[in-house]
Amino acid sequence: MKVYRSKVLLRKDVGLLKRKGRVIGLVPTMGFLHEGHLSLIRKARKDSDCVVVSIFVNPAQFGPKEDFKKYPRDLKKDLALCQCSGVDMVFVPDLKSMYPEGFSAYVNVEGLTKGLCGASRPWHFRGVTTIVTKLFNIVSPDIAYFGQKDAQQAVVIKKMARDLDMPVRIKVMPIARERDGLAMSSRNAYLNPAERSQAPALYKSLRLARDLYKRKERDPEKIIAGMRKLIEREKHARIEYISIVDPETLVGVKRISGKTLVALAVRIGKTRLIDNVVLN
Ligand code: AMP
Repeated sequence: MKVYRSKVLLRKDVGLLKRKGRVIGLVPTMGFLHEGHLSLIRKARKDSDCVVVSIFVNPAQFGPKEDFKKYPRDLKKDLALCQCSGVDMVFVPDLKSMYPEGFSAYVNVEGLTKGLCGASRPWHFRGVTTIVTKLFNIVSPDIAYFGQKDAQQAVVIKKMARDLDMPVRIKVMPIARERDGLAMSSRNAYLNPAERSQAPALYKSLRLARDLYKRKERDPEKIIAGMRKLIEREKHARIEYISIVDPETLVGVKRISGKTLVALAVRIGKTRLIDNVVLN
């Protein structure tokens, strides 16, 4: 496994492999790796000849009052996990090389980024699509892997790749969960024990949505009301949104028919958590 700080060296080495016809798989991350990230890496390992993992906490996707500075970081452990998972190349750029002085070009996907998480974090997806475009340009992956955990992000990135004719396949992998159902996230590290014990309410509410749907409930308002009630029982929980939307357009549905995404964002104490399920 080789660790790259320099995008020039990484691009050169990947270029050599591409000229030999090797398939390059990219897993973009912000580090503090957990089983969710590792599931993407394992899939990349199966599909591709060369697995590249990027580790970069991207300031452009954080708001001014958000947790960029205190976002958890543990490069040593991340590199050990990458090594154990058969990663070939790890890209760990520094801030200045990704956003040099005077940086001013951004990639934006319109429409899809307005609702759900975009409503409270209007800058967020522009930061994501910009960094992912940069990573695609540096690594030229044949396949890039994203998690369903960030459902809106996955839809936005697929749309970006399609609309801008990016020569890359986007694969979206299922959500990795803790035993009690909490979706794995680097931000779970922020939760104190009392908050951690309440955090599974997110997934419980999504399971309730699935149960109601199985019992033929098709009215999103009724499902959302049930979910709300369940989450509001937890005293550290503050719901930001619960939305039932079309999984491609992310537009709210009036009645559930066919594949539908139930997505939510909830603050547990100060920690903002997201999760989702797809009803099918
Ligand atoms: P992050 O480091 O949080 O930016 O995540 C990097 C990638 O891992 C993104 O594509 C996430 O959607 C994905 N990811 C994060 N958590 C999970 C999870 N619990 N299950 C599956 N994928 C995940």
